[in-house]
Amino acid sequence: MDPHFIELPRVVLVGNGVIGKIPEITRELKLSGKPLILTGPTTKGIAGEKVQALFSNIRPDMEIVQEASYSEVGRIRDKISDIGFVIGVGGGKVIDTGKLFAFKEEIPFISVPTAPSHDGIASDRVSVKDKEFKYSLRAKPPAAIIADIGVLASAPYRLIASGCADIISNYTAVFDWKLGRKKGEYYSEYAAALSLLSAEIVLRSVDIIKEKQERGIRNLVEALVSSGISMSLVGSSRPSSGAEHMFSHVLDSMDSKALHGEQCGIGSIFTAFLQGQDWRRIRNSLFEIGAPVTAKDLGITEDQFAAAMLNANKIRKRYTILDEKDLDKNRIIDIARTTGIL
Ligand SMILES: [Zn+2]
Repeated sequence: MDPHFIELPRVVLVGNGVIGKIPEITRELKLSGKPLILTGPTTKGIAGEKVQALFSNIRPDMEIVQEASYSEVGRIRDKISDIGFVIGVGGGKVIDTGKLFAFKEEIPFISVPTAPSHDGIASDRVSVKDKEFKYSLRAKPPAAIIADIGVLASAPYRLIASGCADIISNYTAVFDWKLGRKKGEYYSEYAAALSLLSAEIVLRSVDIIKEKQERGIRNLVEALVSSGISMSLVGSSRPSSGAEHMFSHVLDSMDSKALHGEQCGIGSIFTAFLQGQDWRRIRNSLFEIGAPVTAKDLGITEDQFAAAMLNANKIRKRYTILDEKDLDKNRIIDIARTTGIL
């Protein structure tokens, strides 16, 4: 077997008020130089300024991220120099931009998510927009993940439900990954088990997540972190990304306004049916958690749904259940009706 290189986060801190421990963590990790804080227009007031104040003796620069793109990284690089490490305090765009910036500059990245909305908070993957096309590439996992339950629990509930849906879609992603073995693809039982365990924990925690109980949010955050780690273990998004994610990527390119996890959840209901998995369990859990279960909930039409599913296996070379079923538009609509998506 070929040597396998694994790079993982060095510190994962989950708990109430842990944002205050960031300077201590940076000392423990022996990070040197000035931090650059990246945050968003809303998350600046929620946590960005708080993190900046923790380093008041160094006066770190703080930049507001508008979108996760190469040009945004370039804009910040032109403006700021002599940075020792990057702290991303915010949602998906901020975390992705921070990860990409740190990767380009070859400096450490600290992930401080303000919403538990997807598993990118802990992974080595970064989703970037280049011109109008959005794609995912491999960067480095964060050196540290600081998940403050107090901050994460106060995120809008829609983002929390979307994070659950992203994790629930691991069921269909792992099934697709197993199919990939037929094509000689590398498969790690350990990473697959970790990914499925994350989904199982979220399903078992639906009630306490809905009530935003501390234990519920903690279980969701730990599941997102574990799912991100399962990707770092194999150096690919395979453990958490199958045909349901490809469907979501097509919707992104169609300018869908729905959230990543919401799209993946719907994709997962559909692909679970194709895979002969218990699609009802996936659908019912999404419904229970308050995530979308119909195309209408996503804000897309029947035609858009069919087009996205029809094109899902064309956007990248990744063997999935879609390659084993010769679907046409009518069949897609049939299945979507059977599963209640349409
Ligand atoms: Zn995802």
